[in-house]
Amino acid sequence: MYDYCIVGGGIVGLATALTITRNRPGARLLVIEKEDALGQHQTGHNSGVIHAGIYYAPKSFKAELCRAGERATKNFCEENGIPYRTPGKLVVATSEVEMMRLAALEANAAANGISCTRIGAEALTEMEPAVTGFGAILVPQSGIVDYTAICRAMAGLIRENGGEIATGVAVDRFEDRADHVRIIAGDTAFEARQAVACAGLQADRLASRSGLDADFRIVPFRGEYYALRPELSGLVERMIYPVPDPALPFLGIHLTPMIDGSLTVGPNAVLGMAREGYPKFSVNAADMSSYLRFPGFWKLIAANLASGIGEMKDSLFRRAYLEKCRKYCPSLQLEDLRPYRAGIRAQAVSREGKLIHDFTVLRSRRVLHVCNAPSPAATSALPIGGMIYDRLHAAD
Ligand SMILES: Cc1cc2nc3c(=O)[nH]c(=O)nc-3n(C[C@H](O)[C@H](O)[C@H](O)COP(=O)(O)OP(=O)(O)OC[C@H]3O[C@@H](n4cnc5c(N)ncnc54)[C@H](O)[C@@H]3O)c2cc1C
Repeated sequence: MYDYCIVGGGIVGLATALTITRNRPGARLLVIEKEDALGQHQTGHNSGVIHAGIYYAPKSFKAELCRAGERATKNFCEENGIPYRTPGKLVVATSEVEMMRLAALEANAAANGISCTRIGAEALTEMEPAVTGFGAILVPQSGIVDYTAICRAMAGLIRENGGEIATGVAVDRFEDRADHVRIIAGDTAFEARQAVACAGLQADRLASRSGLDADFRIVPFRGEYYALRPELSGLVERMIYPVPDPALPFLGIHLTPMIDGSLTVGPNAVLGMAREGYPKFSVNAADMSSYLRFPGFWKLIAANLASGIGEMKDSLFRRAYLEKCRKYCPSLQLEDLRPYRAGIRAQAVSREGKLIHDFTVLRSRRVLHVCNAPSPAATSALPIGGMIYDRLHAAD
């Protein structure tokens, strides 16, 4: 019998497991991951940005966890010898409308306690000669890291603290019993006093198969990137972001100097046809039917038809994608964009057709299900782990 079982070896599950092993030395803990290695889904297919937290609604979990997470991630990297850099981020306005949105974003950042510097058009081009715009804000604390390197270090620490990690084991469901929970994985069953499901793209399935009323659906949103040709990897020093459209939850196609020295552009946000199919045009009939049968999906589509079609156009036509980047980096050419991996966001959608923005959990008697851990949950993973730990022990 384990004291704790964590299902899902992405960064949220590992941060939760690490927090438990640190706070409960001697407790028996098992992490179960269905893939043969850790961090293979969202955690291993993201932009690698350590966000500062300028975008999120003040006092939301996202805002508070991101601010704490930015510091916690950098401290974790320092303590464990993981390379990270803090090049800072410029959010660049390329129209008068975006200048107004930029002012609102600056005010939001201030409300979240994050100091940014306003940069004029001329100073912007002096700082980043390849970038043009009406103006920008500089967020100096934004950083970059490889989140799979963080996962590897977390796994090492979990094992050092006595925890066990089983990979290649897919959990079907949880069965609550009076004083424990059975974790069913094919012909095998594990038993634990408490469990936490951090299943990312499979969160709704695991919750509903375990008998919970999961009144949301995970809809996969692909984030497609390009890598700039290697000669251009020094084109910008900082991350360059557009001003996001406040009506949309995604941050827009940005230039990101990666920790491995390459420069990527992306991601877009196009409806996916498979939750875990990374090549373009991957289709999974069960994944599609799961959202097509959900009324919230159709309400979401009806309300966001124009932006959805725009994203699809960017996905299908490299030139349309390029035009988005050329708004702030006009020298980029079609031949500069090289294929690069895609990521798939686990976006929870409500029955009312709303994208759920904040961190969300569901509970049965002995299992806490993390249902929505969207970006910046890689940045925020350590404080999310702390919050989950507190919730598990709230009744102690
Ligand atoms: C394109 C993209 C860009 C992003 N950029 C950033 C960024 O720059 N900065 C940032 O902070 N965040 C970013 N994010 C968000 C961030 O990556 C995620 O919020 C975070 O990785 C979520 O971690 P997770 O552990 O919840 O999910 P995941 O990493 O998806 O892990 C879930 C794990 O559960 C396992 N699992 C699922 N079902 C089962 C089962 N039945 N049995 C056993 N195991 C199971 C899966 O195999 C998987 O390993 C981005 C995300 C995407 C997709």
